[in-house]
Amino acid sequence: MQSMLISRRDLDFLLFDWLRIDELTKQERFAEHSRDTFEAVLDLCEQLATRYFANHNKKSDAQEPTFDGHRVNVIPEVKEALDAVAQADLIAMTMGQQHGGAQLPVTVAQAAFAWFAAANISTSGYLMLSMANANLLATFGTAEQIDTFVTPMLAGRFSGTMALSETQAGSSLADITTRAEPQPDGSYRLFGSKMWISGAEHDMTDNIINLVLAKIPGGPPGTKGISLFIVPKYLVNDDGSSGARNDVALAGLNHKMGQRGITNTVLNFGDGTFTPDGKPGAVGYLVGEPHRGITYMFTMMNEARLGVGIGAVALGYTGYLKSLQYARQRPQGRTVTSKDPDTPQIPIIEHADVKRMLLAQKAYAEGGMALLLYCAKLVDVSHSVEPEAQPDRDTATMLLDILTPVAKSWPSQWCLEANSLAIQVLGGYGYSREYDVEQHYRDNRLNPIHEGTHGIQSLDLLGRKVPYRNGANLAALGEAVAHTTATAAERGGELAGMAARLDASWQRLVAVTAGMFGSGDVEAALANSVVYLEAFGHIVVAWMWLEQVLAAHGQHGDFYDGKRQAARYFFHYELPKTAPQLDLLESLDRTTLEMREGWF
Ligand SMILES: Cc1cc2nc3c(=O)[nH]c(=O)nc-3n(C[C@H](O)[C@H](O)[C@H](O)COP(=O)(O)OP(=O)(O)OC[C@H]3O[C@@H](n4cnc5c(N)ncnc54)[C@H](O)[C@@H]3O)c2cc1C
Repeated sequence: MQSMLISRRDLDFLLFDWLRIDELTKQERFAEHSRDTFEAVLDLCEQLATRYFANHNKKSDAQEPTFDGHRVNVIPEVKEALDAVAQADLIAMTMGQQHGGAQLPVTVAQAAFAWFAAANISTSGYLMLSMANANLLATFGTAEQIDTFVTPMLAGRFSGTMALSETQAGSSLADITTRAEPQPDGSYRLFGSKMWISGAEHDMTDNIINLVLAKIPGGPPGTKGISLFIVPKYLVNDDGSSGARNDVALAGLNHKMGQRGITNTVLNFGDGTFTPDGKPGAVGYLVGEPHRGITYMFTMMNEARLGVGIGAVALGYTGYLKSLQYARQRPQGRTVTSKDPDTPQIPIIEHADVKRMLLAQKAYAEGGMALLLYCAKLVDVSHSVEPEAQPDRDTATMLLDILTPVAKSWPSQWCLEANSLAIQVLGGYGYSREYDVEQHYRDNRLNPIHEGTHGIQSLDLLGRKVPYRNGANLAALGEAVAHTTATAAERGGELAGMAARLDASWQRLVAVTAGMFGSGDVEAALANSVVYLEAFGHIVVAWMWLEQVLAAHGQHGDFYDGKRQAARYFFHYELPKTAPQLDLLESLDRTTLEMREGWF
């Protein structure tokens, strides 16, 4: 039976026919793998997701974690799911063998993770945080820190969080006030409060390893004065056992619109609730050098941004499949040319408008999946040491740099829209809690907010990633797009037509970008950065669709015809939306800038 989470047929097409990830096994790092091992991991993750994650998706939404004043209660199925993944050695799937990892490509891990996210985004959130936390520490931690904290995290005995945000400092991390005071033994004591911390405070693992941003007194102002600390819930004894309770206290749980199954906390550090070694202050251990915390944290944040992107895609994808199944079974009305009430009703999938909603979902979900897997492959290539890797390592790094804000934001917007359309396909039933799609929408609504809001991602794209090194990132992306359009043009026919449209949109984007920067009016250019992000994202995803139809070229059957039709949909209905956006950007419109507070 076909899964209602993600289409495995599509994953295989994207991974093997299009991205040819089996070629990654030519790299020394992945030499012990083969297509068979990649497929076995995907099979396993689908099974685990179906059995241990999907089983409690609705339950963990209805019975969110509660705090009784002493402990936080999470339904038992969450721990069962996390334990199942740990027992299958999947937490360390991308880690090097020196850490006991399976050294799988990130591309495979991203596809594998999509199963968990589609099945239960909340429970998979614990997993994602632990993986990203362990990855950061494995990169920047000392051997002792890796031994003490990473090894148990990879075994599933410890779990991880990222504690950046504070009540007064969300988008603006420069303004955090948590402080870290150096101690004579080389450790630190932290004092402050963190807001919105996911995956913190539960009893499902022996320890929780918080990665906390804080300022060492006397350091430089702003982000340059931020350092990164390991602050465990329990101190760890020399033999690895749990020691005293650290001074990290739960001030309360936040109650969310969606993603309710994962704890979301206000954490107090050093308020004296606990007194390790007889005094207040949360014991913390510096990661790397002082004042370089933001740089280290970006490793985790970039990974988490791709994690948010794949989560958004996964939710869009499962909503699409569920609404597709419903539309095939729900009889309602008759065709516009046959209104005879004596004839049987037709399934709603036969109405053009329902097909429009399903096509849009397919275009968003499969287009988003292509983008996230493409970015994951860039991660693998950017780490490779083989000179013949394609694209080369430097190009892969530049492409990843410019595409990361898009990979986070585009699915957060459009796969959320897919979830809204899934509700619409189900009509009144979609709006009721008896069906899954309303929860998918609520769960997905977080994604444009966390890990850098939509607005912050747009400033990152237009203000940093596009102008970086005189536009080198943009030029690298332009070359990649041009390679695709040239190949499609050679094929002729409809492919050549799509290539011409994409090429025209790209050239216009480049010209508009040059005009915006050439104007010297930075304020006006950045005022419409979200419009830029959205136009940019749609052009990038049109490119992803052209890549897919190229990979499907010459292939016959429903699957490939479906790919071609979804690509047509994207080129006819979606790509044209960018023209008025680019007009607005070109005009350096100042409407938002000139709006005054008192005029609202
Ligand atoms: C469910 C949930 C889970 C989370 N998990 C974690 C976690 O595990 N760890 C963690 O550290 N944080 C976490 N966060 C925090 C999250 O990253 C922040 O909510 C986010 O960064 C936005 O910060 P804020 O909520 O303070 O909003 P604000 O920063 O106050 O933003 C409010 C609005 O103003 C806009 N805005 C702000 N500054 C600018 C600017 N300079 N230019 C233009 N527009 C701007 C924003 O785009 C947004 O629309 C989580 C949040 C939620 C809701």
